[in-house]
Amino acid sequence: MGARILSGKEIAEAIKLEAAAEVERLRADHGVTPCLAVVRVGDDPASAVYVGNKVKTAEAIGIISEHQHLPDDTSQAELIRIVSELNAREDVDGILVQLPLPKHVDDREVLELIDPAKDVDGFHPINVGRLSQGEDSLVPCTPAGVIEILKRSGIEIAGQNAVIVGRSNIVGKPMAILLLQENATVTICHSRTRDLPSVTRQADILVAAIGRAGFIRGEHIREGATVIDVGINSVSDPELARELFGNDEIDKRLAAIENRGSTLAGDVNPKEAKERAGNFTPVPGGVGLLTVAMLMKNTIKAARKRRLR
Ligand code: NAP
Repeated sequence: MGARILSGKEIAEAIKLEAAAEVERLRADHGVTPCLAVVRVGDDPASAVYVGNKVKTAEAIGIISEHQHLPDDTSQAELIRIVSELNAREDVDGILVQLPLPKHVDDREVLELIDPAKDVDGFHPINVGRLSQGEDSLVPCTPAGVIEILKRSGIEIAGQNAVIVGRSNIVGKPMAILLLQENATVTICHSRTRDLPSVTRQADILVAAIGRAGFIRGEHIREGATVIDVGINSVSDPELARELFGNDEIDKRLAAIENRGSTLAGDVNPKEAKERAGNFTPVPGGVGLLTVAMLMKNTIKAARKRRLR
């Protein structure tokens, strides 16, 4: 039997509905409308799409959103001035500086400048520290979204073996902390892990956050495991697409490559995962949609904490 496909769409829609209701309550009860400020530097096409989705979603659920799009040659000093201004503004609840920033910018300095109370990406060391100590904090959106997918799909986390491939600050590490808080037994793998398939095959829950299209194959997956694919990769080679996609979607994917130049693929080989896994998140239509929904939740949470003190 093929894997159950865990649709991020339905779960993200449910979270956005809850968020819209909360925005309305904040307005009606306290006269507060949350405001999200997004700063984008340069013309990275993927960033343009991500920021567009964030701004559109915010508006759709009643959050005020501001988008500052700055030229690629914006200086460190100018970026620092802009973030400082947003920090000082009483009406701004959430500040998001879209990554990646251009090479000449020190992104650490910029991210650490954001007021932790407005850090809706959850990347500031204060929020990272609070998260790792189990205190209330703004949690990075993508791993928080993965937890929502698991919980709302009725997948048991406590006591399960969870294996994460990837140890980045924005996905792998916070994912490990969140799964640990949910009482999973957690293993983190990376490029130096020996015999990766033998480790990942121990997973009841396998999270792939690597950045390489279709890297996780059938041999990495225990029969019946839940496989969460965080990866977002652009695939333009029709041969690679044929390796990744089964008869159910290959025609659509090849048409996308033909018409738009590329198609999106995760870090897991979907053809093989569907055969071996018990549950599987698709790309697109999986974790990515949750990231935006959780950003809305974080913005509302930041507004509540700051303004209803
Ligand atoms: P990253 O910072 O590049 O980290 C990749 C991780 O994968 C690293 O820890 C690296 O190990 C590990 N890795 C690389 N090659 C490996 C190998 N051969 N075997 C085992 N581990 C290996 O990436 P990221 O920012 O975490 O993003 C990961 C993926 O998620 C990307 O596809 C990205 O586009 C996607 N993403 C999606 C969302 C979303 O909304 N769905 C959000 C963020 C990111 P080392 O540490 O040893 O180098």
